[in-house]
Amino acid sequence: MKWELVCGLEVHVEMNTRTKIFCGCTTEFGGAPNTHVCPVCTGQPGALPVLNRQVVENAMMTGLALGCDITRLTRFDRKNYFYPDLPKAYQISQLYAPICTKGGIEVTTEEGKKKFIRLHEIHMEEDAGKLVHDPWTESTLCDYNRCGVPLMEIVTEPDFRSAHEVIDFLTKLRSTLQFLGVSDCKMQEGSIRADLNISVRPAGGDKLGTRTEMKNMNSFKAIARAIDTEARRQIETLESGNKVVQETRRWDDNKDASFAMRSKENAQDYRYFPEPDLPPVYIDDAWLDKVRGSLPELADAKRVRYREQYRLTEHDIGILCQSARLCRLLEELVALGTEPKEAANWILSEVLRLCKEAGLDAGDLQLDAGRLAHIIELLTAGKLTRASARQALEAVFADDADVDAFIREKGLLVERDAGAVAAAVDQVLRDNPDAVKKFRTGNEKVYGFLTGQCMKLLRGKADPKDVNAALREALAQ
Ligand SMILES: [Zn+2]
Repeated sequence: MKWELVCGLEVHVEMNTRTKIFCGCTTEFGGAPNTHVCPVCTGQPGALPVLNRQVVENAMMTGLALGCDITRLTRFDRKNYFYPDLPKAYQISQLYAPICTKGGIEVTTEEGKKKFIRLHEIHMEEDAGKLVHDPWTESTLCDYNRCGVPLMEIVTEPDFRSAHEVIDFLTKLRSTLQFLGVSDCKMQEGSIRADLNISVRPAGGDKLGTRTEMKNMNSFKAIARAIDTEARRQIETLESGNKVVQETRRWDDNKDASFAMRSKENAQDYRYFPEPDLPPVYIDDAWLDKVRGSLPELADAKRVRYREQYRLTEHDIGILCQSARLCRLLEELVALGTEPKEAANWILSEVLRLCKEAGLDAGDLQLDAGRLAHIIELLTAGKLTRASARQALEAVFADDADVDAFIREKGLLVERDAGAVAAAVDQVLRDNPDAVKKFRTGNEKVYGFLTGQCMKLLRGKADPKDVNAALREALAQ
């Protein structure tokens, strides 16, 4: 029998607001355990939550960018469960009236077709703390710094039919969130993590099979592996005449396999009820219009503009528009007078190479656009050779060096000394009679060697254009 995968996602996104969702504690990552806490986020008796307005606006922006309906009267609900990472013994979340419904993201299937993945809803909630297992004392320690950090949970319909579609969806979602500036989406710090709901059914069927859930996945590679492995396990289970059990499974990346953790809870197990400590939130037209007006330009609009206004190639646009940070750098360079194509070339070749060598995600790039623009300007004016320009960029990348001071210190400025260039060309022709003979009998390949020798004699300080002109002229004689 031919089987098909049916997969849905619940994506948790940590927002990058300065403070927590219901109190004024900082959301900064790290910090000594239990130092970013107060009576509200640790659930002390009598402490009352106050909703962070920015959290609502971030969720509204995300919903608007993803084509969702915004719920005008949105409410919070209490999700009750007892676990040591949750000092209140309940989580404030949304069940009955989440802030956004519907909407979706278009992905590309493995066959290259366009496909729309529908969203079920987006809701706001608070994050839980972190448990640290200490093998020395065989005890578990609680760190509540993360308690109350605002989360958005983005829930899809079970529309995915392959791991490829899931990864494409997550890539586009992450880039949209970064363009919106609502989350830094650092997967390794867990600021974006996905729960996978996976089932299989006979290909083309319309009934859903029993699903299993895999929680807190925070690497694209592990997600793709986990989906394929779990689908195969379920197919083998069904083909051997057994039933798939509804349960939560844990993915072990080292073992490349998943293991049963516990049977899955249903909504009624959480005894949800309306949160009595928070009034409903009414979003009126004025507020919605204000947030809509503050939406930044997103990747799709940038793609069109880069093509029409900047005249960049589809290939370059494709890479640039995956990263909000690279788009910002490009636009800053253009605003400083760099020609768009030249700016894109520098980012895609030199800047990305330096990022890769430093093991740095492009999203974390710290580079002053003004300094790079200055380097490109000096190169275009013939005051720097390309090799020296690269060297200057490396210094700026490594420790934000002052470009002019660096060039002066290293003596990189091109010297416009026609006499020195002529003398160098002369000497190279004299020292390399064989190469000259080869060139004059039609072997163009030795030309590069001769230029290299000239540049070496001039210690790289001449403008290659000047050297070229002088060398061509001397060889023609
Ligand atoms: Zn607090």
